[in-house]
Order: sequence, then C-alpha cells, then structure tokens
Amino acid sequence: MATKRDYYIVLMVEKTASDDEIKRAYRKLAAKHHPDRNPGDEAAIEAFKEAAEAFDVLSNAEKKARYDRFGHAGVEGMGGGAGAGFGEASDIMDAFGEMFGDFFGGGGGGRRGGGASRARRGASLQTSLTIELLDAAVGCSRDMEIEKHVTCVTCVGTGAKPGTKPQQCDYCGGRGQVVQSQGFFRVQTTCPACRGVGQIVREKCTDCRGSRFVARTSKITIKVPAGVDNGMQLCLRGEGEAGEHGGPAGDLLVEIHVKPHTLFERDGRHLTCQVPITFSQAALGTEMDIPILTGKHRLTVAAGTQPGEILRLRGQGMPDPHGGPRGDLHVQFHVEVPKKTTKKQEELLRQLAEIDEKHVSAHRKTFFESVKEFFGAAEEAE
Ligand SMILES: [Zn+2]
Ligand SMILES: [Zn+2]
Repeated sequence: MATKRDYYIVLMVEKTASDDEIKRAYRKLAAKHHPDRNPGDEAAIEAFKEAAEAFDVLSNAEKKARYDRFGHAGVEGMGGGAGAGFGEASDIMDAFGEMFGDFFGGGGGGRRGGGASRARRGASLQTSLTIELLDAAVGCSRDMEIEKHVTCVTCVGTGAKPGTKPQQCDYCGGRGQVVQSQGFFRVQTTCPACRGVGQIVREKCTDCRGSRFVARTSKITIKVPAGVDNGMQLCLRGEGEAGEHGGPAGDLLVEIHVKPHTLFERDGRHLTCQVPITFSQAALGTEMDIPILTGKHRLTVAAGTQPGEILRLRGQGMPDPHGGPRGDLHVQFHVEVPKKTTKKQEELLRQLAEIDEKHVSAHRKTFFESVKEFFGAAEEAE
C-alpha cells in the first residue's frame, strides 16, 4: 500500500479542529471530488476515497484518539480506516448515505452558514391563470395575490421570542444528527429532539408561535410570454414558500389556461378561422374582410372556391414562445346552402338548375357515366 498522507492534511484542518469543522471540511472535499461530478476521473475517485477514509477516522472519537497517538498504524484493522480502506466509491456512499442524501439530492439546497442546522429549499406553490387568446398572442402581465409562508420578521426566522435565543439541543449537542454504530459502519440519523435543527426554542416568538414562518398574502406580477399555449406552465424562481435554515425559497408554478376564442381555433402555432360564403360568392369569387389577430384583413376569394377549401395566411398565426417562426392563419371556406329561399331566389335558382341540366361539368359527367355502368352491371346480375 502506498504511503498514506496525514488525515489532517487530507482534510486541510487543524489538529484542534472541532467535529463540525471536520465535517464541513469533509463535505467540501466530498462534493468537489464526488464521482457523479467527475465521471471517469480516477484521480478524483482516489481523492474522494482518501477524504472519506480521513473523515471516517477523524469523526470517530475512539479512532481519532488512537490516530493522534499512534498514527496510521493505530487505526489499522479498525474498519473503514487505514487498514480496510474503501474499495469502491459506492462503499463510501453506503457508509455515509445519510450525509450524501443531505448533500446531493433530497432536501439539499443552500448550505452556507447553516452550521448544524439543515438548510432546506422551500416548497413550491402552484396556481393557475386564465387569459384570453388575444392576450396570449402578444404576451401580457397580470398581478396576482399569492398566499405563502415567509420568514417571520419578528424573530428573524429563529422562532424564539425577541430578546431570547434558541438554545443548543442537549440531545445531539447541536449537531442535529445522532450517530449510532451498526457493526462496521456508523449510521447517522436526524436528531429526534430538535428534528435536525440542532437548536431548541424555549420561549417562542408570539408572532409565528415558534414556527419561524408567517402566512402572508403577497402581490406578484406574472409576465406571460407571447405565444403561450393552453396548459403551459411558467416557473417563477424563488416565489414559493420560504426556505428553512437559510435555504432558498421554493418556486411558484403558474399553469396557464388560454380561453377558447369564438373566431379562432388554435392548434399550436396555427389558427383556423371558419368563414361562411354563399354559393354565388364561391362560384363568382368576391372580396371580403376577414378577422385576423390584429384586426381585419381584406381577402380575395377566388372564383370557383370549393367547400372546405383552405387559404393559408402565412405569419398570421400565434408567435412561438420558444422563438421559432410565427404560425399561420388558415381560412377555411364553408359554402352555405340556403335553408329557406325568397321567391326571387327560388326563381333564379330554377333558371340556374335548367342551365345546369344542359351544361354538365366534366366531373359530373364522369360520375354519371360510372353510375350508369354500375346500374347496368347490377341489372345483368339479376
Ligand atoms: Zn417569529
Ligand atoms: Zn438535537
């Protein structure tokens, strides 16, 4: 086995360092050299193992005392430390799982200045906002009132009555964690007395009743980007519940509901507008004003427009909230057949019918020929 470095040098702490200083130093190194952050980096894995080994010894009173007296030889064969060592980085995770869970995921969050207490990100809040399609098209901002918990100003989030201070928890000695030895490994669990805070409030703040938070209605301006679609969620960082023990606040998630519009049907970036026209308009062509998002648009309907035909107006749809090209407006024509006719209309239509009888279109001609053939075949089969 290669020469081992002094454990105090590995963790970069003084020989007189407190448990907390050792823990902090270790966490810093473990975070820096963590295999998840340094994939495939052998040197990082070695440094990670070395730090874990040093911490295993220096965080254990008995091992530390032996190490201080006899050096590496003193802790050989005591498990975890010099003798056994950690084979794999994953062994270290198993051994200090509680610590890493705290650190790399789960309730992690800012951990600066937390001391023994556990900084925790505040909970996220959810709300919804309903807007009109026309507002979604250009973007808008809305003021909302959000009920949330903020840090109590009276006690500055300590939960203690002003003039008093939270006392160190006797049960865990302020560490917030209690250590139990389970055979080979030490298992750390959250202190049941102070729930991991490391402090106990004896005289509670009257404003927050010691909870450290007060409910407050706060006004917030929500900026809705242009092109937002129904069901999209906006995330307002840090506008959720206050964090605990110096942790960052949670987020506010706003689900957007876009009301259906009477004229424009939406499909992503594109809009469809159904425009009714008469048979004569479809046959002869016409000019008409149709609605677009920004007002009206003069449209030329070509002579011979067919029922259901779609005219595409490029760039007259919705903007893309992700910066893509603007959508189109599809104008779909519906040729209306009158349900009731005036005397004059009927007269003219009958005249038209007579002409239609004589002037058969190519399309109708093909159809009638096929029908004749079909009927003929049916008769033969009888
Ligand atoms: Zn308070
Ligand atoms: Zn405690």
